[in-house]
Amino acid sequence: MSRDEIEPNIPPRKTLGQHFLYDPKILERIALSTGAIESETVIEVGPGPGGLTKQLLNAGAKPVIAVEADRRFVRSLQAWPEAVSGDLRVIEGDATKLDWDAVIDEHCPRKRAKIISNLPYNVGTVLLVEWLKASSWRTDMALLLQYEVAKRICASPSGKHYSRLSVIAQAVTEPKIPFTLAPGAFRPPPKVESALAVLKPLSETQKFSDLSTLEAVTAHAFGQRRKMLKSSLARLADQYGLNVNDWLQYAGINGALRPEALSQADFQKLASTLKV
Ligand code: SAM
Repeated sequence: MSRDEIEPNIPPRKTLGQHFLYDPKILERIALSTGAIESETVIEVGPGPGGLTKQLLNAGAKPVIAVEADRRFVRSLQAWPEAVSGDLRVIEGDATKLDWDAVIDEHCPRKRAKIISNLPYNVGTVLLVEWLKASSWRTDMALLLQYEVAKRICASPSGKHYSRLSVIAQAVTEPKIPFTLAPGAFRPPPKVESALAVLKPLSETQKFSDLSTLEAVTAHAFGQRRKMLKSSLARLADQYGLNVNDWLQYAGINGALRPEALSQADFQKLASTLKV
């Protein structure tokens, strides 16, 4: 599959984070990075000229639900034979504003879907957080992101990349970075390095169920990451009618620590004791 076979004449738009991949080997590797996808529903945000879309369809994904904000690509994808047959569903719109439950209801008979995408960098984190919460239908994810974001997703305590995203991603998935891509792999090249993050869902017994509370705790703790927890979490405790020191003591957490010292289990203890 050459670049011309996909879509030759649509100039990229910077505002939509358009950095395209045309190397079939890279695209196939991304398409198969969560394992076999034959007969699986796959969501792709930002198909653009459709290089990854083609590989997803070639690997037997059915249907592929492709959400694209740029009408020029929507029109060209809608003319593909797979779009006519229904194996490819093209939705025009802003993926950050979609009602995903409604999309799944309409297009996904099995009510379970993988998400495999080369994401526009400016909305990657927002979409990831939304999908992490969507555990009723979302299974594995393979997302091409800025390398910095992928490192945050996979980071362990104490390191400089350990953040809100590390804690909430690892509360419900096991993330890995199978490979990175240099800017030269894309047309036009972005300014930064990229990486594929593959996030495998944890089992029902392993995953932490109250992701929204965990998100609130980590947002407060890492929002002021140089402060001690007894200070950065005071306002949140207040919102729940708790004294911050009592709460920290009840959860068994030393309030003089800073957030990067807390393990996944520590954050989960804080989240599960916030409402008690
Ligand atoms: N998948 C293609 C590839 O790998 O060559 C294109 C990836 S490009 C990095 C990101 C794509 O996302 C572009 O096609 C862009 O138009 C689309 N996009 C940007 N913002 C979007 C949004 N909010 N909702 C849906 N699509 C968006």
